Formats: sequence, C-alpha cells, structure tokens
Amino acid sequence: MIVLGVESSCDETGLALYDTEQGLLAHALHSQIAMHQEYGGVVPELASRDHIRRALPLLTEVLSKSGLEKQQIDAIAYTQGPGLAGALLVGASVACGLGLALDKPVLGVHHLEGHLLSPLLASKPPEFPFIALLVSGGHTQLMRVDGVGRYQLLGETLDDAAGEAFDKSAKLLGLSYPGGPAISRMAEFGDPAAYKFPRPMLHSKDLNFSFSGLKTAVLTVVKNHPANICEQDKANIARGFVDAIVDVLTAKCVTAIRESGLKRLVIAGGVGANQQLRASLNAAAQKRRFQVYYPELEFCTDNGAMIAFAGAMRLKKNPALATRDYGFNVRPRWPLQELLEA
Ligand code: ATP
Ligand code: MG
Ligand code: FE
Repeated sequence: MIVLGVESSCDETGLALYDTEQGLLAHALHSQIAMHQEYGGVVPELASRDHIRRALPLLTEVLSKSGLEKQQIDAIAYTQGPGLAGALLVGASVACGLGLALDKPVLGVHHLEGHLLSPLLASKPPEFPFIALLVSGGHTQLMRVDGVGRYQLLGETLDDAAGEAFDKSAKLLGLSYPGGPAISRMAEFGDPAAYKFPRPMLHSKDLNFSFSGLKTAVLTVVKNHPANICEQDKANIARGFVDAIVDVLTAKCVTAIRESGLKRLVIAGGVGANQQLRASLNAAAQKRRFQVYYPELEFCTDNGAMIAFAGAMRLKKNPALATRDYGFNVRPRWPLQELLEA
C-alpha cells in the first residue's frame, strides 16, 4: 500500500510517499522560515498562502523522485490538526481534492502522532513498548507507547513548550526566529559556571514540566544588562539556559524510564534535534542502561514523511479509516487525549 502524506500545520509544507512494503519512497519539504523571519514568528495568513503555492510542486517532486504515477497512490493522509486553521485547510483541501480527482480514499492524521511515530522511520527503529518524549514547538509531553494508537500520557508542560522556551529565550538574546538551533549553537561557547538558571519542577514528584519561569529568568538577566550586551555574555546566558532545560528534560525522562520499568526511550519533535539534549540523554542512558532512539535529523521538525508513515500505520491496523468522504474539516485544537480514546 502506497500512502501519500501531506503536512501543512504550521510553517513547513511537506509531502511524502510511504510504501508499507518498501518503506519511505520519497519526501520533499519547503520551509517558510526565511519568509517569517522578518516578523519574528509565523504569520498565519502568509503561511496559508505559501502552502497553496508549494503543495502541488512538492507533489510533482515526490512523484518524480519515486518514479510513481499519481494513480499508483493507494491512500492520502493529511495533517488534520492541531495547528494553524488556515494552514491546515490548505493541506486538507489539497489531499481531499486529489482524493476526489484520483478516486482514492483519504484520512486525517494527528500531527503529534506523526511526530511520535517519526523515530520508527529511522534505520534502526525501536520496538514497542517505549517511553516517548515529545518535545516540539507547541508541545512537551512524556508518553508510554505500547503500539500504534496505544498511548498513555504520563506528564506534560503546564505552560510553555520546550521549543517555545528555546525560541522565546533566543529572541530575548536578539536571535532571529526560530531561535532554538541558534541559541544552542551559541551555548557551545558559553561558560557553564557564569549563570545558574532555575530547573523548574526538577524535584516535583510528577512527570510534568514548566518552562515559562526559565524564560522569565533569562528575561531578568537580559534586562539587568547594559543595552550593548557583549557576545561572550550572550553565549554565557545561552549556556545557562540550555543547561537548565536539558537537565530538566533528561531528569524527567530518567524518572519515566525508572517508574515504567521500560528500557527504551524515544525522542520526537523539533527539540529532539538539539545536540546538547542528545548528549545528555545518551550519557544518562549509558549510566542507567537503557536505549535512546531519535528520528533522523531531517524528521525531527515538521515533515510529510511522518504524516505518510502515521497514516500508513493507522491504515495497516484499520483500512476502513480512509474514506471517500471528501468533505473535510480540520481541528486546529485537537488534544491527543481525544485521539487516544478514539
Ligand atoms: P508542534 O509539533 O508542537 O505543533 P512545531 O511543529 O512548531 O510544534 P516542530 O516542528 O516539531 O514543532 O519543532 C520546531 C521547534 O523545534 C522550534 O521551537 C525550534 O526552535 C525547535 N528546534 C529545532 N531544532 C532545534 C535545536 N537544534 N535545538 C533546540 N530547539 C530546536
Ligand atoms: Mg516549523
Ligand atoms: Fe510539529
């Protein structure tokens, strides 16, 4: 079965073809980061319009990369939510329009399920069950994953997501959107002893997170500095911030592994690309004898491959999920919990 995946929930247009026999056949992505950079964040209307421009050329690209004809597609999976309403509508209408034109069934996929399953696209995928840390721009959650569709939420952020904390703190240091990768590069040159930021909820007895206080701590330090804060000091602040957030994420993962008795930890979402986080988790895993799995770097942030894959996994379990009902709706707010209960 060949599934076309269409992702358009935020500022990346991603299309991909996944074959349940042969694996990922092709994927193509257009990131709008450069377009949104001058505004310091994603402008929803611009995002929607750009998805319209990009979707069909990306379809042509994945078809030509894979050597397939449109008619060879068996089903079309699209991100139905959560995300920006206008952006989601573009992907949904492209998917459903194509489905109607080609007489192929369509299915809506939960964006977070895409992220969650993306590590399974790696060359050495983890087996179920595992603990998953989903760390993206909009979410920070720890989950127990027993199989496709079998997710138990163990803890989540009470305020900002980890990616959001990275981006907001980076902005405070004058780095452009999305600042996550930039602040972590800058942290490499920082002195770890210069600033000790709080580790929010490190010792709370649960698996929840809170990052808004950390961002405020960065703000306070920045405000107390003269206007022309020097590069070395910025790097020191960046280092203090990254160390704090990495410490908390690592500690909660270790607790989740210990409490569950499982030996596999899977990281998903954009912050999973962070090298300091990977180094810290790898060290913890070695010490405590568990395995850590990451998505390929290119599949940490939004992409079509994870949507094609999640759609294919869902359809393997229940082919009836894809329908010829082309009257689509999108779900900008779609708690993963509702998917779990479905
Ligand atoms: P969600 O999936 O929750 O709706 P999203 O799709 O915006 O949110 P992703 O695409 O998974 O999130 O990830 C984007 C986030 O990952 C941004 O906040 C970005 O700064 C962060 N990020 C990407 N690379 C890195 C990195 N190397 N270090 C830290 N953060 C990073
Ligand atoms: Mg993005
Ligand atoms: Fe995402």
